[in-house]
Amino acid sequence: CGIVGYVGDHEPDARPLGVVMEGLRRLEYRGYDSAGVALVTGAGGLATAKKAGKLANLVGLLDEQPLPGATAGIGHTRWATHGGPTDVNAHPHVAGGLALIHNGIVENYAVLREELLATGAELLSETDTEVVAHLVSRAYDDVKDLAEAMRTVVRRLHGTFTLLAVHEDHPDTVVGARHDSPLVVGLGDGANYLGSDVAAFIAETRRALELAQDQVVVITPRSVAVTDFDGNPAQGREYTIDWDA
Ligand code: GLU
Repeated sequence: CGIVGYVGDHEPDARPLGVVMEGLRRLEYRGYDSAGVALVTGAGGLATAKKAGKLANLVGLLDEQPLPGATAGIGHTRWATHGGPTDVNAHPHVAGGLALIHNGIVENYAVLREELLATGAELLSETDTEVVAHLVSRAYDDVKDLAEAMRTVVRRLHGTFTLLAVHEDHPDTVVGARHDSPLVVGLGDGANYLGSDVAAFIAETRRALELAQDQVVVITPRSVAVTDFDGNPAQGREYTIDWDA
């Protein structure tokens, strides 16, 4: 329902979580039933927290169990389509060293789920999204390239989706993809952002990059690389967000 991503050029600290939580607050008006975050921490690990209900529930969980400092993070507010609004079904979904969030619906998830179960994957949730997390994680383990892993998997998906993922091997990267669903890049100074809506990063920057449908984007603190689903380089259109926050 709402999606935020952040990566910054700094030692692991509280900024990624702060930016992601502020983004989720600004996306609250869209409505949701669960919320969650994943951070890539300094130790090269992933840290996640997710909770059914309002953002206040996630804030409460983070107060009880603080997350470590980080360089990159993703956050999600969920509007459940596959599986009820529970803590386990909330995003992010983790598979191997990867955490992934998703807006939309993967229509062919049942057949992909069977394929994963038949080859030993352990699925914890009832969501269509967790299936995608496992597929991208497996593809990454094969090709060792996050963008290429994302492209390999999105070519197999039917439905509508915005996807963001982080991987513990890449504390300086967030990868995103869109198909019939919104995704915008926010351009910062030594930091870059992703959002399902510019509201996700309006507190941080007014410079944005519009993506087209069927594109994959990789942001690092000082670069933004866009391709189509086949890996051909593409260019976004840069513009200035001119509404009041
Ligand atoms: N289909 C996914 C789920 O039910 C994502 C829903 C959304 O767009 O928030 O978890």
